[in-house]
Amino acid sequence: MKRDVGLAKALLLAVMVSVSTATAWQLWVVRHQTLAAADTNNLNLAKALNIYAEGVFTQSDMLLQGVADTLVSEDDAHGHLQRVQSLIEHQKRMLDQLDGVAVLDAQGNWLLYSKGQVPPGTNSAQRPYFTHHRDTRSNEIFISPPLRNPFSGEWGITVSRRLEDREGRFAGVAVIGLGLANFLRAFGTIALGSSGTISLTTNAGKMLVLYPYREQDIGLDFSKSANFQRHFAGTVGTASFRSSLDGRQRLYAFRKSDRYPVLTTVTLRHDEALQAWRQQALLTVGVVGALLAAMAAVGWRLIINIGRRVSAEASLRAAREDLLQANRRLAVLATQDQLTGLANRRSFDEVLSQECRRAVREGTSLALLLLDLDYFKRFNDEYGHVAGDQCLRAVADALRQCVRRPGDLVARYGGEELAVILPNTELPGALAVADQLLAHVRELDIPHRASPHERVTVSIGAATLWGTQASGPEQRLIEAADSALYRAKEIGRNRAMGHEEPLDGRAPG
Ligand code: GH3
Ligand code: MG
Ligand code: MG
Repeated sequence: MKRDVGLAKALLLAVMVSVSTATAWQLWVVRHQTLAAADTNNLNLAKALNIYAEGVFTQSDMLLQGVADTLVSEDDAHGHLQRVQSLIEHQKRMLDQLDGVAVLDAQGNWLLYSKGQVPPGTNSAQRPYFTHHRDTRSNEIFISPPLRNPFSGEWGITVSRRLEDREGRFAGVAVIGLGLANFLRAFGTIALGSSGTISLTTNAGKMLVLYPYREQDIGLDFSKSANFQRHFAGTVGTASFRSSLDGRQRLYAFRKSDRYPVLTTVTLRHDEALQAWRQQALLTVGVVGALLAAMAAVGWRLIINIGRRVSAEASLRAAREDLLQANRRLAVLATQDQLTGLANRRSFDEVLSQECRRAVREGTSLALLLLDLDYFKRFNDEYGHVAGDQCLRAVADALRQCVRRPGDLVARYGGEELAVILPNTELPGALAVADQLLAHVRELDIPHRASPHERVTVSIGAATLWGTQASGPEQRLIEAADSALYRAKEIGRNRAMGHEEPLDGRAPG
């Protein structure tokens, strides 16, 4: 029964633990899926923006190629600049990001600027795009880090190309300025959430464009950053690490251009990527938590009820046991004499009647001894009633020790009269038992000043029944034993007397 309570507790605990575990696992899986979906979105965006950036650079490359070709093919210096100017005017419409185009000679002097007159003597020999092309014999375009336009002061990046004369000597640089503002406008049309960023970086880690724009971010260089080196090594990929710009954990997705040394990166703050999941998770945790609390409350109540039932059953069992014990005690009390512990009068009557019937039925003999304490009234008067009780108990014990045959019964007949039923016993046997009883009582040696014998003695009357056919002769047996007892008293007490002849079990008449 105690096990039931233990099992119920274990079951409740198991259900609660498994529901919590399943919920936690489910939330973890959805969190993982949410981050994976955010990574996929960012990566798709990075790939699309990479194509956009490649388009801008390809457009710039083609324009620069056209400029270079025009300059090399024309002998007339003034004429070719005019043709370049018209080429630029034509291309400008196709390249939104175009800020201006300039042509520099081999010394870095500005020969042409698409946006108007250049002050005489303007020289850009120290600018990175000029030094790069002067020192590098390559027809590849060069993309510069952000630079300020020397005239407007606006930030932009440049795409430039080396110019050579017919003999292949360095003849200057054609350079296109791409306004940062134009890039940022284009990036700004993309929905990125409140924490998203888009950036265009050189493969070496120099920041070209970063959206949203912040003046202090211009010129950022990640080439020494461990995160940049570790996570941006491949052509395309995703990563998650703490941003050096705002110190927050971010999701990164990048794509490197196949044609140009640039990479496009899209980032999203980790907590923003998980915002919807977090709300969902809070709701789930709230609902599951409330359910678990309700389950725990109901389960606990049930367990308490089971416990109460168990203890109620235990006390019922104990009460039943007590009752059975009381019944057994009552059964004993109903058949036993309180003072002597011998069979009482009721059970004497029952046994005598049973034994009489059996003697008649089986044709066997049945003996009855009636035993009376001599001068007992005087004993009481002399020693007191309590001593009288003790004496009665001592005589009863002596009788019990003497009569040991299984079928025999020693009973208290009433007052200081005791009786012994001896089945299958004839008068000589009964008298022999009576003599033993007398001897036992004598051996007790209880003083009795008021008796002529000076000791407690008993007188015994014996009678036997020889059963044949009739039933109900017990009264006659008692009377016969009683009259034998009377004679024993008469003769002098402290002796046993038998009824002269055995009684016939048949009714008189
Ligand atoms: P006798 O039988 O020898 O003729 O004399 P007696 O004094 O025994 O006479 P009787 O049988 O008339 O008296 C019985 C006395 O036994 C009466 C009562 O005082 C005493 N007696 C009967 N039952 C009890 C008992 O349970 N306890 C005590 N202490 N005395 C009892
Ligand atoms: Mg008497
Ligand atoms: Mg007596």
